Amino acid sequence: MTEKRRALVTGAASGIGRAIAERLDEAGHDVLSVDLASAADGPGVAFEADLTTPEGNRDSVAEAVVRFGGLDLLVPCAGFQHVASVAEFPEERWDSLIGVLLTSPFLLAKYAWPHLEEAGNGQVIVIASVHGLVASPFKAGYVSAKHGVVGLTKVLALEGAEYGIRAVALCPGYVRTPLVEGQIPAQAAAHGMDEDSVLKEVILAPHAVKELIEPSEVADAVDFLLTPAGRTITGVALPMDMGWSAR
Ligand code: NAD
Repeated sequence: MTEKRRALVTGAASGIGRAIAERLDEAGHDVLSVDLASAADGPGVAFEADLTTPEGNRDSVAEAVVRFGGLDLLVPCAGFQHVASVAEFPEERWDSLIGVLLTSPFLLAKYAWPHLEEAGNGQVIVIASVHGLVASPFKAGYVSAKHGVVGLTKVLALEGAEYGIRAVALCPGYVRTPLVEGQIPAQAAAHGMDEDSVLKEVILAPHAVKELIEPSEVADAVDFLLTPAGRTITGVALPMDMGWSAR
């Protein structure tokens, strides 16, 4: 096992965050699983917070520090998507996308910073997206926030270097989560295609490799970054996108 960490994972009630929190918990790390919904049946210690508010972020960090006596690892993963044209994009959805995908990682890092410094080997692993590197139409809020969080990650890495703090933004393509799987039947009906064809030809059109990524594979990447082999990787946006951003 890698050195024991005291971790805070957001979005831990579902999908990728849940897979990461479970993996960390199974490996014997301390895990605070933060989400809107109670993740009471989920991994580690569940904590309910709305990460679009400053208190939600401050209280989450404070809870981890009280429970575990410090904080070594921050994994901001909470998020959602909103699909609409720029002209139609609801302004309150823009604000909440920026709030949860960009401001929350900033506030978590800000509040956790003294504890990460104290740890001496602190890490921030942001679950960004290939949409932190490239754009798609109708996703103005999401793409803007994800590009922003890639920039934030680079600043954290530069400011953290002298304290042994490293920061990485993982950038997955399409991951098999309820959000993505839930779109398949409707897209199949809309395109008059079977579900397998709609997955490969419509949803996975930007992937060079026409396969979904598993949430456990994102947890694998987090695992790797925690090992000594991941030591050199900081200040980068790491694509794990089945060749999407190669185009
Ligand atoms: P998911 O919907 O399964 O999980 C997201 C979790 O975030 C939910 O449990 C939700 O309750 C929580 N959340 C949302 N708003 C919150 C708030 N204000 N406060 C606290 N918690 C909140 O989604 P997922 O697919 O696992 O996505 C997780 C992260 O991975 C997101 O940041 C997403 O952008 C990113 N991502 C997903 C994919 C994909 O294909 N699924 C690809 C690349 C990146």
